[in-house]
Amino acid sequence: MTTNQQAYDAARAIIPGGVNSPVRGFGSVGGTPAAMVKAAGPYLTDLEDNTYVDLVGSWGPMLLGHNHPAVVDAVHKAVDAGLSFGTSTPGESQLAELIADIMPVERVRFVSTGTEATMTAIRLARGATGRNLIIKFAGCYHGHSDGLLAAAGSGLATHALPDSAGVPEAITSQTLVLPYNDEEAVKQAFEAYPDQIAGIITESAPANMGVVPPKPGFNRFLREITTANDAVFIMDEVLTGFRATKTGGWGLEHADWAPDLFTFGKVIGGGLPVASVAGTAAVMDQLAPLGPVYQAGTLSGNPIAMAAGYATLTNATDDAYATIAQRSTQLQSMVADALKAEGVNHSIQSAGSLFSIAFGTADHGVTNYEDTQAQEAFRYGLFFHAMLDGGVYLAPSVFEAWFISAAHDDAAMNKIADALPAAAKAAAAA
Ligand code: PMP
Repeated sequence: MTTNQQAYDAARAIIPGGVNSPVRGFGSVGGTPAAMVKAAGPYLTDLEDNTYVDLVGSWGPMLLGHNHPAVVDAVHKAVDAGLSFGTSTPGESQLAELIADIMPVERVRFVSTGTEATMTAIRLARGATGRNLIIKFAGCYHGHSDGLLAAAGSGLATHALPDSAGVPEAITSQTLVLPYNDEEAVKQAFEAYPDQIAGIITESAPANMGVVPPKPGFNRFLREITTANDAVFIMDEVLTGFRATKTGGWGLEHADWAPDLFTFGKVIGGGLPVASVAGTAAVMDQLAPLGPVYQAGTLSGNPIAMAAGYATLTNATDDAYATIAQRSTQLQSMVADALKAEGVNHSIQSAGSLFSIAFGTADHGVTNYEDTQAQEAFRYGLFFHAMLDGGVYLAPSVFEAWFISAAHDDAAMNKIADALPAAAKAAAAA
């Protein structure tokens, strides 16, 4: 039998770092990542036949759990009808209409990754306004396109420095990185750069620095200030969309307003590569072939991926969302109780059903990137490995959300409960 170690060694010999996305590596927790070969419901199984309760959910898409029968059936039917046509298909319009039934959008354009979706949204904001500058918030992740891979220096309206080698400063200098949840910083940026800001992009509820919920009214404020300055407001719901709640992070505010553009991904593909940019006809119709903003994709709107997304969203019933919300609350209490029993200082941040732990932050909580970075992240490696030893697969970084699915049943929750005491002890000892 091939072991996880052998599989990892083979992968490292041919794939940089052995992974096709760096977050899958165990860089921040140490050890050897297991090679998964099977997934069902709330479980993942590796090639040594170890089964884990999965709390990563493929980083978000597996809202209904793995291999949901209706999704698998829809995919099989789509495969039998043809893998890719390179033409329009009825499935594209069906999924687009379903998205527009749930979210306040008039147009939807499908792409294959969240990165493409946000990149296109930014291009649309610039094309629609004839301006260059984009505001993003420190700690928000919007994919790996050049202008969005930008970290801030300290201070307010900072022209960003690249966050990655290979990204020209000339490009990130067009991105202003501001502290999250800081209305004053946003006001000052609009004052400092009058008529130069094309738009603001924000995660509707940030979940890529751990979960950092928006202060009440922060998203509405961003809507108001962009409207007042004729700038485009982009809510990145790639992670939160159809996941944090049925209506994503936007729905957490029961909003009576909408951004100009949303970006969606993950859940709308049900585990296959789908993302989209969606929004008002006025902005979206700037896209080629109607308008001057170019965007394209060989496999965009792929029929198998459309079928998986449609089956996922149509099976994401109100009951499914209620189950996910209830399991999330239950899991948060379980984690908090286990950590408290060992005296581990922590806080739990949540946005809808998404949540994460921040160690050593009990007294002040977490409202921005600086707060998350200041936590006792060193406690997570031992916590993570103890959970893994107990058969629970967490994200291999403390700066990630926990993803629960509608398939997490009592048996899965019990397995998590059994693993938690040792993990809490390990975190305390770190
Ligand atoms: N935006 C957000 C909020 C995300 O969480 C992610 C991915 N985690 C992306 C964009 C990029 O999506 P993808 O990895 O599909 O390119």
